[in-house]
Amino acid sequence: MSVFKFESDTLQDLLDHIDAKTLFIFDIDHTLIEPVQIIGSTHWEKYIAKKLKGQGFTHHEASIRAFHQWRTIQHLTAVKAVENSIYEVLRLIDSLNLRTLGLTARDSTLSELTFDQLKSVGLDKIFTFQSPSEDLAADYPCRYFNGAVFCGFNRKDIGLRLFLEHVKVKPQKVVFVDDQKSHVDELEEFSIAEGIEYVGMTYHASGDHKFNPQIAEIQEKYLPKLISDREALDLLEA
Ligand SMILES: [Mg+2]
Repeated sequence: MSVFKFESDTLQDLLDHIDAKTLFIFDIDHTLIEPVQIIGSTHWEKYIAKKLKGQGFTHHEASIRAFHQWRTIQHLTAVKAVENSIYEVLRLIDSLNLRTLGLTARDSTLSELTFDQLKSVGLDKIFTFQSPSEDLAADYPCRYFNGAVFCGFNRKDIGLRLFLEHVKVKPQKVVFVDDQKSHVDELEEFSIAEGIEYVGMTYHASGDHKFNPQIAEIQEKYLPKLISDREALDLLEA
């Protein structure tokens, strides 16, 4: 049993780690897809939460309020694939007939919308681990739907554990990609505890460096219309 973790800004670096016995697990936001503009990104959600804490909300309240604002934007925004290499990954998944799973901090109220968003960039068939939809008994709502576990406020290792127990599958090897290192670490803990070979990649194709609070503030003013980063920047400089 081995564990290997690394960081990279391209999915290409994962390809060598994939073999036929791999359960390949993907985060969704900022790993597969992201909004076409700054507002609606996870970075923006964190910025909102921080602002709310500054206004006196507790960490928990601020997180919930920020999440609700983030969710509202998901219903409005177009998304793009984070990196074109994902389509190469998709071909590899097909050719090896791999088992793949989505593992997201989105909650299950967004499950249908998530697949509409994935479909808009040709990624709605990426999760091949198909099983009937199931609510998983965790501290917070947690649901498996159409190949993805919607963990909500639960840790991702909890969501994965509950799903694998439910379907009675123990993978020999897990490869996981997520833009948040904390989640890569959670699955490492899980894999070690379960004696599963693990490769975890923290993925930086969509970095915090792209976040610009001034652009986000202007975009917020224009809601429910979504203006592009370019348009917001022009207004900022006008
Ligand atoms: Mg993410």
